[in-house]
Amino acid sequence: MKARIFEIKRFAVHDGDGIRTTVFFKGCPLKCVWCHNPEGIGAHPQLAYYDNKCIGCGECVRVCPTNAQNIANGVHFFDRTGCLACGKCTESCLGDALKLYGKEMTVAELLPLLLEDQDFYENSGGGVTLSGGECLMQADFCAELLKQLKEYGIHTAVDTCGFVTKEALDRVIPFTDIFLYDIKARDEDVHIKCTGQSNKRILENLRYLDALGKSIEIRIPYVPQWNDDQIEKIAHLLSDLKHITKIRVLSYHNYAGSKYASLDMENTLPSLLPSDEETEKARQILKDMTNFSVST
Ligand code: SF4
Ligand code: SF4
Repeated sequence: MKARIFEIKRFAVHDGDGIRTTVFFKGCPLKCVWCHNPEGIGAHPQLAYYDNKCIGCGECVRVCPTNAQNIANGVHFFDRTGCLACGKCTESCLGDALKLYGKEMTVAELLPLLLEDQDFYENSGGGVTLSGGECLMQADFCAELLKQLKEYGIHTAVDTCGFVTKEALDRVIPFTDIFLYDIKARDEDVHIKCTGQSNKRILENLRYLDALGKSIEIRIPYVPQWNDDQIEKIAHLLSDLKHITKIRVLSYHNYAGSKYASLDMENTLPSLLPSDEETEKARQILKDMTNFSVST
């Protein structure tokens, strides 16, 4: 069994408690307008080309088996339609201008990499987080990986958008210590506008995990003019739940513009950024209405 992974981030400190290694799985069922991991949306491998880094060395032209890379009159040209995403050019690029997002890996290949930092996990109260994209689109693989991590006594977290089947959740529940669960909007129409999908299944799955007594850390991206009117409604929704360990309000940023360009994807990032005061006000509303711990 293999999964498509687009990044493995070591020493992550924002993906659950302590020092963690985060594994990013490719493919996501949502299309959030503010997505800062556009390389995680598509399920298939993609070659990113950062033209500002290209030094025109021509190595990619030399190794590409499909002539997708060309240089004419000193200008580099990448024909995305001819690319097989084999990754050969990324290994030879002298400018670090090419990056392949989406590598197929087995559990046996991934596990030793994750065990390398076991001492750091133990000393910091950290562990391993599965993220994406939406990692539970590859739930069987996640379940097997999490099971083996638990056999080594490693703390496990699953970062999910919740737009997954109950069967997918059931596969990983026995091996997951905490779910990092995104809530983007309470109103269905707002959720559809922001992500392209209804939130009915997401809210059902949230209640399901809570009823099972699973630990859940809620994550709310705060994006002016998109979901900033949803905070009180989300607070009301969460106030009924019993197993929330923490709520995080994540202040929207738009640093991912170059990634959209490198993948030739339409940049949907909203331009309006929240002020510190706005985000803090949202946190205060959640604190007052839920009594849960609320943080950045
Ligand atoms: S990933 Fe492979 S097919 Fe695509 S441009 Fe690079 S060498 Fe050519
Ligand atoms: S190998 Fe990299 S730096 Fe060299 S021409 Fe190709 S993209 Fe540019």
